[in-house]
Amino acid sequence: MFHKSLPGFIEIICGSMFSGKTEELVRRLKRAQIARQKVQVFKPAIDNRYSAEHVQSHDASKIMSRPVQTAREILDHVEDNTRVVGIDEAQFFDETVVDVAQKLAYRGVRVIVAGLDLDFRGQPFGPMPRLLAVSESVTKLSAVCMVCGAPASRSQRLAAPAGNEDSKVVVGAKDMYEARCRFCHEPDAGVDSLVSEAVQTDVGVAMTTSVRPGQGVFPAASRMT
Ligand SMILES: [Zn+2]
Repeated sequence: MFHKSLPGFIEIICGSMFSGKTEELVRRLKRAQIARQKVQVFKPAIDNRYSAEHVQSHDASKIMSRPVQTAREILDHVEDNTRVVGIDEAQFFDETVVDVAQKLAYRGVRVIVAGLDLDFRGQPFGPMPRLLAVSESVTKLSAVCMVCGAPASRSQRLAAPAGNEDSKVVVGAKDMYEARCRFCHEPDAGVDSLVSEAVQTDVGVAMTTSVRPGQGVFPAASRMT
């Protein structure tokens, strides 16, 4: 079980929604596969928006994966000759995913973890802060702010799911979110009032600015005073 001759380590791919985390995860895993390294991929069973068998990003790049109910299950499924373990949507696991990643790294496995670093309120998401701390490498990806076009680090919730207002992220509800920069992100935005101009115009890099009262070019400034 131990591969003491192999350097195990943990790589994190984090960022907001629409920042290309899963694409980057798949890219790294495919490179390992090309080098004939045995790869296994896991994701929380909660994330069944496209396929139970694939890690699939919004742009449809995909790789075979196994949904698991708990992070600890990953340890049961990793085979002795596996060199690379991918974990997608890691923010949905509980804190035990940190110990699981550490155990695998100590065994000599390269562990690549992708997940949202912040929830829609802009707060650190689940086990991600600890994963970032214990990892050897962090890649923080940005999306494009749908309001101003700046690099986006936040996921703006545009609507809450019925009867589930406190859910941190609605799985698979891509159209309920958009990427925003720090200054355009509204963590406490009213659920019903906020449907941005950008979404309605369906422009990839939105050039529109919000016309909602109180939201100027620098909405954060007024919020902080
Ligand atoms: Zn912005």
